[in-house]
Amino acid sequence: MRIRADLDLCQGHAVCQAEAPEVFTVPKRGQVVILRDVPDAEHRAAVADAIRYCPTRALSIADDGATDPSPKGTD
Ligand code: SF4
Repeated sequence: MRIRADLDLCQGHAVCQAEAPEVFTVPKRGQVVILRDVPDAEHRAAVADAIRYCPTRALSIADDGATDPSPKGTD
């Protein structure tokens, strides 16, 4: 998993920083800066909360494509 931030949407509310300060930081009157775009397992729950509670839906998870090698639509 890899975290993505859409800076066209981010308005600097810093909810993400409150939820997962090890992963996100938001400078005063700035936009989110991702400190670890591939978070450790111990931070994943906090990252999920940050994504859920971001008021502008600026955060998302991108799959690296490494998790599911099986072909689609075969069964
Ligand atoms: S909570 Fe969302 S809008 Fe606020 S700083 Fe974080 S990513 Fe940006």
